[in-house]
Amino acid sequence: MEFHLGIDDTDSLRFGCTTYIAALLVEKLLEMGVEFIDYPNLVRLNPNVPWKTRGNGAVCLRFRHGEDVSEEALEEAVELVEEHADFECANTNPGVVLHTGRVPQDFKMFSKRVIRSVVELREAERLIHKHGCSAVGFKNRRGLIGALAAVGETLEGDHTYELLTYRVRENRGKPRMVDPESVREMDRATRPMTFNNLDPETGRILITPRGADPVLYGIRGETPEAVYKAHLMVRVYEEVERWVIFRTNQGTDSHLKPVKDASEVRPYNPVVLEGRVAGWPRTIPGGHVIFPLEAGGVVECAAYEPTGSFRDVVRMLAPGDVVRVYGGVRPPENGLPMTINLEKLEVLRVSEAYRLENPTCPSCGGRMKSAGRGRGFACRRCGFHSLTMTKVRVPVERKLKEGLYIPPPRAQRHLTKPLQRYGMEKSGKPDRLFNPWHWP
Ligand code: ATP
Repeated sequence: MEFHLGIDDTDSLRFGCTTYIAALLVEKLLEMGVEFIDYPNLVRLNPNVPWKTRGNGAVCLRFRHGEDVSEEALEEAVELVEEHADFECANTNPGVVLHTGRVPQDFKMFSKRVIRSVVELREAERLIHKHGCSAVGFKNRRGLIGALAAVGETLEGDHTYELLTYRVRENRGKPRMVDPESVREMDRATRPMTFNNLDPETGRILITPRGADPVLYGIRGETPEAVYKAHLMVRVYEEVERWVIFRTNQGTDSHLKPVKDASEVRPYNPVVLEGRVAGWPRTIPGGHVIFPLEAGGVVECAAYEPTGSFRDVVRMLAPGDVVRVYGGVRPPENGLPMTINLEKLEVLRVSEAYRLENPTCPSCGGRMKSAGRGRGFACRRCGFHSLTMTKVRVPVERKLKEGLYIPPPRAQRHLTKPLQRYGMEKSGKPDRLFNPWHWP
């Protein structure tokens, strides 16, 4: 018999991590004599849902057993959630879903929508009921959405791997004792089979998270072999409690949905949209760069301050440029309109651009100034005045090159496909698991 066990929404910013519960559960299930049919799946859901804690991640464990172990497996999962979830946090609403048998098509379709849009709990509950799953939802039960979505995302399309190591309890909350030089060496030795180990612009190490969660570090890569090899190269000066290799949709862009025009852009639904730049980019307080995009209606696009040098590219846009924008959609708030928060920008055509400038003085060659509305231009240097002169169109030198631009790794979302992954996409499920894929 085949079982699929999804878990979500167990952590808060104060502590916990759903992947850690999965790591503990792996060991419990192995003690029960199950055979894993896939690596634990780490499924990133829509990064734009308003109630996520951090990366909106959910997990699913897929395994076989000669007997029906569904009740026992669910019990183990629920016990671990009860022990390790942060129930005091208002925003933590754990859910556990166990499905016996093949994953129904309904679930797969549901997952795609949970990754790309916002769904209601009712829908998850209806599907759980329809297919006779066992499920336990705590508090407002919202975690059932993510737990079911994790079951339904069988990662048959593009996918990557992440090896996550965990810290012993007494070290959680303290600085992570990972040798940065060993991470740089590991990065040089394993790229492009691993990705986003560090941020090239700042040199910052990205494999270590920064919160109080139990993760020591996570290494992302293309194959289980690659992340394992990389893991062996990282030197740490603290105890590693356990580690697990997850198969995941991280770094695959699976959240981005192409839409036809501006009318299909909705809050919280990440999109890919093609259009024409409709005005000069402007930098607003806080360092964010915004510009309007015409795509059968005008939508604002923003490159936020943390995207660093990516903003320099956005600043080089000019009216008329044809671009494809990728990003999450923020609802209108604080007097700002609905905005596409740029995760990528593809410059498809750089147009000729002009700026309107005041004319030069025909008498002395100086720059003229407006003499007031409807009063033409006057030269401050020689006093020449003309009622008929108008602003002149001056061509702007275009330095922008056509191509795909992505913010630096430190500003990328878990789901964003990094530049180095283009051409490395893969599909299918593993038919056997690399050994070792977990420890202990
Ligand atoms: P993690 O920290 O593990 O990366 P997270 O903590 O940021 O993830 P969760 O704590 O899992 O996020 O909270 C997200 C909540 O939102 C869960 O209850 C989940 O069921 C729900 N959820 C996720 N995606 C959607 C969606 N597309 N529509 C509606 N609810 C969603």
